[in-house]
Amino acid sequence: MVADKVKELEQENILLKAQVEELQNICGTNASAPMNCEYCKNFIQHYIKVEMQYSPVCSGHCAAGRRMKARRTDETCKAFIRKAYGKNYI
Ligand code: SF4
Repeated sequence: MVADKVKELEQENILLKAQVEELQNICGTNASAPMNCEYCKNFIQHYIKVEMQYSPVCSGHCAAGRRMKARRTDETCKAFIRKAYGKNYI
């Protein structure tokens, strides 16, 4: 009885490890970074010019051809693609 339960848990553990590895391949190793528009490759940040300096505002637009172009930085969608900076992902 106990041995059967242990075998069942071991099989479940193997399955869960495979699923975690697959998710890490999809989301990158730093899955803790939010999947907001702000961190999406398709997000174009908008800026405001104050005197001689440009500052980012909390909106932008999506370059992925989404119907609603104006986006807030905290929104997301299924077309999210993690933005890459150099060799490392955020
Ligand atoms: S709407 Fe989707 S694809 Fe466009 S910037 Fe936001 S998360 Fe990325």
